[in-house]
Amino acid sequence: MSILKPGLEERYKRVKQSLADDEMRFGREPGSVFLLPVSKTFGINALEEAVKCGMRAFGENYVQEGCEKIEYFKKQHPDLEITWHFIGHLQSNKTRPVAEHFDWVQTVDRLKIAQRLSEQRPADMPPLNVLIEVHISDEESKSGCQPADVPALAQAITLLPNLKLRGIMAIPAPSDTEEGKKAPLKEMYAIFLHLRDELNFDIDTLSMGMSSDMAEAVECGSTMVRVGSAIFGPRDYTKKE
Ligand SMILES: *Cc1c(COP(=O)(O)O)cnc(C)c1O
Repeated sequence: MSILKPGLEERYKRVKQSLADDEMRFGREPGSVFLLPVSKTFGINALEEAVKCGMRAFGENYVQEGCEKIEYFKKQHPDLEITWHFIGHLQSNKTRPVAEHFDWVQTVDRLKIAQRLSEQRPADMPPLNVLIEVHISDEESKSGCQPADVPALAQAITLLPNLKLRGIMAIPAPSDTEEGKKAPLKEMYAIFLHLRDELNFDIDTLSMGMSSDMAEAVECGSTMVRVGSAIFGPRDYTKKE
């Protein structure tokens, strides 16, 4: 390992430490924010190393790539308990492999997707944990449920037998300013509290915060940060590994 370029283990340690510091700094309970390493585009070698560093949960964005990794670990390391989160955009014709492989889907943004995931979830697997992706601040993005439509979608999901609604997630538009980062995160926190405390949904997860806004997300009430490049390094989308 070179001194100039920290390796995976060192970067993971640093991210865990800054998350612990952020929890302390913003008066959050120690250990109350879950760190989800995002391994998209990184191959099996990187994942093997990640597991050696102690990581036991991964976020994946692409259906085929994610399912291949899940199959690999099921076969090669059947004793390892790894939790897999699908965090990419999900098209309705791709729901089946996701329902058959993953433990969580964080990007449910319409009823049709939820219905298909519930129908396609194998009977011998536990209910699929789902988050509703909320369309917040990012005018460019077409995915995500409009904030006003979230309660109705949440209600519909609770009626589906093979899904367990756990909360909401968002991917806000990037911003260079502190306030630009915090405005959508605060909006998400308000939606989360409304669902949990006023509408009495049994939810525990507010998934927001990535490498560039982890501290702001912890400050604004996140319970799960999804961190890719700060742990795994820069991604190369041209050559997956
Ligand atoms: C890629 C990705 C992340 C991680 O992003 P980084 O900036 O690399 O930390 C988090 N969430 C989602 C939905 C992603 O697609």
